[in-house]
Order: sequence, then structure tokens, then C-alpha cells
Amino acid sequence: MTPEAYPLVKTGGLGDVSAALPSALRQLGVDVRLLLPGLPAVLGGLARLRTVSALGNLPGGFAGRLLRGEAPSGVPVYAVDVPLLYDRPGNPYLDADGLDWPDNHFRFAALAAASRGTLGRWRPDIVHGQDWQAGLAPAYLALGGSPRAGTILTIHNMAYQGLFPAETLGPLQLPPESFSIDGVEYWGKVGFLKAGLFYADRITTVSPTYAREIQGPEEGMGLEGLLAARAGDLTGILNGVDYTVWDPATDPALPARYGPADLAGKAECKAALQQELGLAPGPARPLFIVISRLTPQKGLDLVHGIAERIVERGGQLAVLGTGDTALEVGFRSVAQSRPRDIAVTIGYDEALAHRLQGGGDAILVPSRSEPCGLTQLYGLRYGTLPLVRRTGGLADSVVDADSTVGTGFVFGPPTADALWEAVERAFRLYADPVPWRETQGRAMAQDFSWAKSARQYLALYRSLTLPPGA
Ligand code: ADP
Repeated sequence: MTPEAYPLVKTGGLGDVSAALPSALRQLGVDVRLLLPGLPAVLGGLARLRTVSALGNLPGGFAGRLLRGEAPSGVPVYAVDVPLLYDRPGNPYLDADGLDWPDNHFRFAALAAASRGTLGRWRPDIVHGQDWQAGLAPAYLALGGSPRAGTILTIHNMAYQGLFPAETLGPLQLPPESFSIDGVEYWGKVGFLKAGLFYADRITTVSPTYAREIQGPEEGMGLEGLLAARAGDLTGILNGVDYTVWDPATDPALPARYGPADLAGKAECKAALQQELGLAPGPARPLFIVISRLTPQKGLDLVHGIAERIVERGGQLAVLGTGDTALEVGFRSVAQSRPRDIAVTIGYDEALAHRLQGGGDAILVPSRSEPCGLTQLYGLRYGTLPLVRRTGGLADSVVDADSTVGTGFVFGPPTADALWEAVERAFRLYADPVPWRETQGRAMAQDFSWAKSARQYLALYRSLTLPPGA
């Protein structure tokens, strides 16, 4: 169960994961089906859509239909079609002003409630929910009595918790006794993520390092006590990459294709990108790229702080992102003062994200906190060396070039100076083509395909479905 899945709906990494993991699990023989909200893009993007059953008595008194169709990948999808909740344009979580939809509690409770029984005639053994939007599913199932499906909640980001006023408890069809520290209650509110973490049989998150970090105060966001208490049920499984979508050898979005044995195509991609973005041509100038939501969590204020220094040192910077107004304005203004050296695209553009990975030399991911991160994994495969902060999944996937097995650059403190120190090291390595190529070769040879992670999820599913001792 997930609020987004590429290519139907995607706002970030969760969309990629929700598409790729089911495909990888199906290859292992698991009968995976997605449960998605019936957003216009979902209903419009599914093949062979048909009605399975009516859905009545949803939280808030809503009613609708359960539909079934097929994602472009062939994965079967159930869509919860409640036009009053989902038939609206734009972002799945936010209105046109960037504010949370005021009925988000009903929108995601309806999704969770749809998994309470059977989906048509199909009864899953495991309900695997993603993030706070799925948090009520384990609660509904646990509170509804047995027999019931096993439940897993995967945390993609602790920063988003789905908190709603206490008065929503009744309309959400949650019993009064569940409003407790041993239940859905979180600091006087109904917490969807809290509910999932409390009631799910197992909890996973998207990297081993983040699984450790969220048991402490810095990353636990107030839920560290619960997570530490449930440490025995908590695992970190690193996200993978869908190399059918993200591989420079086959990527249709690139002007030229390339692989580790021949990087001539990458030079072509860089020249084309510089031209497209209005940057001064120059194969010898390292081109740093950013593809990100523009939020403080992503540490992009640090990049903004060193943008001029990158140019003065002889480099170029290309940013693609959308998010906080202050960061959007800040990046636009540095680009205006240096149009031949800094290019900033505010918006969401999937194809440009691919062209940036193809044409860039290094991708900056200075996140303050990063549960897994995908753009550094894509950067590795595209020979666009990741320059990352040592946190969460970034720490688990990039090895600093100071080592003989380096694949990128890693820095520690979340400061512009520490970032600059790593950028400076990237400049120095770039000036020396042989070790730069060797590092690129190691980066491109990394294998973060989904098969390995999918096997870890399968082992977890088995632990929930097999009788003890089997
Ligand atoms: P998060 O999920 O926290 O946003 P991830 O690194 O896990 O971060 O995933 C980000 C995904 O979203 C990647 O597929 C990245 O290419 C994509 N992405 C982020 N911002 C943009 C953008 N402005 N345009 C296109 N793709 C973007």
C-alpha cells in the first residue's frame, strides 16, 4: 500500500521504490499487488481498469469503489476510487498553495481501510505499507481482531508523521482506548506514523544506518523511544535502483549513450547539457549537479552558500528542484548573476533529471538527514560521482575517494565549510584524469539492483507467514 508509484504518481524516492520493489518481488515469485489512492493520474494510467467491489463505510462516512487495473510494469494495482477524496488535480499531498489537503486524514485512512478485508476475492497474507500515509493499516488490522494479514510498515522519512487533531479519532473509526501511548496517540494527537510503528508486526526502513539513527534523538523525531523498544522488529533494507529506467547505456532521455568501457557519450551529454542550460561550453570545467526537493533536510542551503565559490574555482553548477520558496528564490538569484556558470531550473522534470545525471561530473547530496537517497545511486551508475554527507543511506552507499576503493566524496559536519572541503577535493581529483576515470569506473561498477533488497523483503515476509519453527 503506497500513496505514490512511478510512472503514475511520483513526488520523490517513494514513487521509484513503490514501482521497482513490486516488480523485483514478482520476479522472485511473490504475488504482489499495489493498493493506491484513486488519483486522476492513477485512474488515467492504469490499463484494463474494472470495478471489483463497492467500498462502503470508509472513515469519515465516505463510500466509493475498489477498482483493479494494471500498472505499465504489468503489476496488478487496486485503486481506491472515492472521487470526493481523490478526484482533484496536482500534488497527492498538497493543494495548489502548497498546504496539506485539509482532509488528508480521511484520504489516507480510506486507503488503509480498504486493506482491512479482502480485495475482491484476493486476501493478502501480508499488508506492507509505505510511510505515514499507510500508518493506519496496521492499526485497523490489529484492532479488528484475527485472523488477519501480517503487517509491515516501511519508513521512508521520519520527518513526515501524519499528525491530526484528537477529535479525528472517532471519525477515523478508531476506538477510544486506542488513544493512548500504547496506541495511536502522539503528544495529544492522532499520529498515523506512530500508529503504524506501534501496531505493525515488523518495521523496516530504507538503509541500515538510518535504522540505527532513528533510534536516537537526532533522527527519531520523538519516536526514538518506541523505535528503540521495537529494535528487535526493526530492520534497515537499502533501496535499490531500477536499472531498466536508470542506466546510461540504454537511457532514451540522453542525447548519447555510454557505459564504463567508453565514456565518449558522457562527454557528448555534457556538451549538450551545457548548451541546453545556457552554460558556457567547456569539457574541462567540472559540472556539479543537484536534483532534489529544495528543503532544509536536503542541505541545499549549504550548496547555495558555496555556489559562487564553485564558479570562482572554475566549476559550473546546475540545479533542478522545487520546494521551499526561500531556497527557490536564493538559487534563482545566484543563477541570474552567473548565467553562464550556474543554471537553476525550478520545477519537476523527470527527463531533465536523466540528462543532468548523464551530463554532470559530480552530484551534490549534502542532506542533513537522508533515509536512503536515490540520486547518489543513480549518480554512481552514470559516472557522476556522488558527493554526499555521511548520514543514513548516503553513508551506506558511497565510499570516499581517499580510499583505494572510493566511489565518490563523503563529508561529515553539515556546514558549508565541510561541504566546500569535499568539493575542493573533487576539483583536485577532476584535474587528474586517470584517478578520476578510475573512480568513475568503480562507481559505475557498483550494483545496487533491487534483486538483493527484494530477497531481504521476501525473507521478512516469510518470517511473518510461516508458522513458528517451520
Ligand atoms: P526524496 O524521496 O527524499 O525526495 P530520493 O533521493 O530518495 O529523495 O529520491 C528523489 C527522486 O526524485 C529521484 O528519483 C530524483 O531523480 C527525483 N527528483 C527529485 N527532484 C526532482 C525534480 N525537481 N525533477 C525531477 N526529478 C526529481
